[in-house]
Amino acid sequence: MLRLLNNWYGKRLSNRYASAVKARLTEEEWLELLEMSRSAQGTDPLFGTLTQSATSLDISPIEFARLTRTLTTLRKSAEFDAAMTPESILGNPALNPYRRSAFRLLPSELRSTLMLTPIVVTPRFRFEGFAGRFRCSHRKLVEIPFGVIFVLRPIAEVSLGTYLSDSPEKSSALSAHLDALRLLATELDAATPSLFSAVIATIGPHCQARLGVAHYAHLMGIFMLLHELGHIGRSLDPR
Ligand SMILES: [Zn+2]
Repeated sequence: MLRLLNNWYGKRLSNRYASAVKARLTEEEWLELLEMSRSAQGTDPLFGTLTQSATSLDISPIEFARLTRTLTTLRKSAEFDAAMTPESILGNPALNPYRRSAFRLLPSELRSTLMLTPIVVTPRFRFEGFAGRFRCSHRKLVEIPFGVIFVLRPIAEVSLGTYLSDSPEKSSALSAHLDALRLLATELDAATPSLFSAVIATIGPHCQARLGVAHYAHLMGIFMLLHELGHIGRSLDPR
């Protein structure tokens, strides 16, 4: 029940954000966002598999089976359905927890401008983020792929776990976390749900899965948005 309420509230918040930002866009800019969403989805193998829009998949059969399992789990989530339509590029609830907190930390003189800078969520399972511009108007925007949210928890597990296992009597936990760190560093451009499963499996029983990890993951998400907004704010700030 709480989860339903939370989803409903989250959708209302994202819809409100999306309409405030969309009201400031020209028709041309909105069409460019829709196009951006469609082409992002078309170049992501995982979303391509899901929508059968990919012409060829450059992955092994084992990886394909793993991705299919991940997709079955993801289909159960309401946020996932929302991420699948190009029209949800502004209203995706995935970034709600980070966006609202990041806005509160913006310098007051830039807050109103930055809050109306489009932060778009593209349907890609990649760990990356960009501060960019519309081609048609050169106005600024921030682009965050939907899949980013799958990497925040593994990074939090690895960072907090390494810190908490830094003692001789916890050497097996420490080595599991360092193995996971190596995996994170070398596979950071992999499809993010696969990266999530691989890192969590490597840490195994040493996973913290406690409140500290959730807080850490939340902070990472906020600072990821602040980082991108910072690129935009620097060019707006006259000082
Ligand atoms: Zn940067």
